[in-house]
Amino acid sequence: MRPPSSIAHAASDTDTLWSGSPVWQRTLVNFSRAAELINLDANIIARLSRPERIMVVSIPIRSDDGKVKVYTGYRVQHNDSRGPYKGGVRFAPDVDLGEVCSLAMQMTWKTALIGLPLGGAKGGVTVDPTTLSHREVQELTRRYTTEIMPIIGPKVDIPAPDMGTNERHMAWMMDTYSAKVGHTTPDVVTGKPVSVGGSLLRREATGKGVVYNIEEACSHLGLTLSGLRFAVHGFGNVGSVAGLEMVRRGAVCVAVADVHGALVDPKGLDIQSMVAHAQTHGSLQGYGDQSMIADPREALYAPCDVLIPAAQGNVITKDNVRKLQCRVLAEAANAPTMTEADDVLNEAGVFMIPDILCNAGGVTVSYFEWVQGGMHFFWSADEIDSRLSRLLRQAFSRVVAESKRLNVTMRKASLALAIRSVDEVMRSRGLYA
Ligand code: NAD
Repeated sequence: MRPPSSIAHAASDTDTLWSGSPVWQRTLVNFSRAAELINLDANIIARLSRPERIMVVSIPIRSDDGKVKVYTGYRVQHNDSRGPYKGGVRFAPDVDLGEVCSLAMQMTWKTALIGLPLGGAKGGVTVDPTTLSHREVQELTRRYTTEIMPIIGPKVDIPAPDMGTNERHMAWMMDTYSAKVGHTTPDVVTGKPVSVGGSLLRREATGKGVVYNIEEACSHLGLTLSGLRFAVHGFGNVGSVAGLEMVRRGAVCVAVADVHGALVDPKGLDIQSMVAHAQTHGSLQGYGDQSMIADPREALYAPCDVLIPAAQGNVITKDNVRKLQCRVLAEAANAPTMTEADDVLNEAGVFMIPDILCNAGGVTVSYFEWVQGGMHFFWSADEIDSRLSRLLRQAFSRVVAESKRLNVTMRKASLALAIRSVDEVMRSRGLYA
């Protein structure tokens, strides 16, 4: 599926590095569908159809065996009309420039949808972090930070954790940046440990936000969370917290997967002990007596009320979408559903909580962390939780209202709202030339 020819700009040689990527093309299709829906001006479409800045860096590190290995890293800044660029850093073997461009655009919509005064960016390094030692990962993170330093900063672009990175990486990024500029600069990244200026609840924020959205979806659909069956695909930061929060509300976990495989039990799995196992062993491998099903996708196919994809993107495809057996799809991961699969789910009446709404809890508490750091004054966990809950529930209501008003899917409605908000700011600011 190609984006419409109305999206036209003067292409350059370097564009071929990313613009032909299938992931980017799909993101552009979703953007152009929503842009058409709201009659977005062609000049604004042209500006939003490409990132504002792309940086590709070489990251040499010395391996434990003494050899030098060179990795490729990216930082893509899609749009900063509404405020400084904001977006996570992903360490994964399949990271490429098209994916990072796509995720950067998604961040622009996510921050706009929630109403945060931030833009959209994303970073990544093509690496399997599980193959590196602690020292090697630290060296990689610090050198990546040094390479992208010219374009990041607390008022410019503020990275955060994503797949394969966590608060430990953010502490290294903050320390590296601070050492280079000569003074401690905690607000150059968010998702830091609390001891170095991080916010309470940042680690739990995305998973909690997913469950606030599910609660809203249940009340919209007349369902009760207690007793509802759910499945989680991906059991890292987001998936494990979302799973725990669901169980706290009385829901029953019938399937879980991580990269090593799936565990499925219609009678219910013990999430608490799985989280404890994953924390100690780094994954679900070796958990309990039940042997894991080798294909993690089996968790996507388990009969359930709520399915929570919380791993990588593009896991729900036109080839497997008909195997899904859920009533609500809560997109905790970024872009888990491919466009063709999306259409099938809509026709089947599955209620979709789109990614830019469903997983926006992370960037929302990142914003809180940035604000608290700037004020040098920190809020209590209760204060953060209630602000998070309020912002996400308000956004959910706006998206439902827009979806009814325009008679479109939740995905189109959320994009329409987000794009309109960016458009408004771009028009007010005008075009500097
Ligand atoms: P993470 O690295 O903590 O965990 C990823 C999990 O996915 C791990 O359990 C891993 O084993 C599993 N996984 C990897 N490949 C898999 C596969 N092929 N099949 C099944 N499971 C697989 O990452 P995270 O921070 O929890 O992020 C998960 C998703 O949520 C990503 O799409 C990310 O972009 C999105 N997201 C994260 C945040 C955040 O604050 N961390 C915010 C917004 C969106």
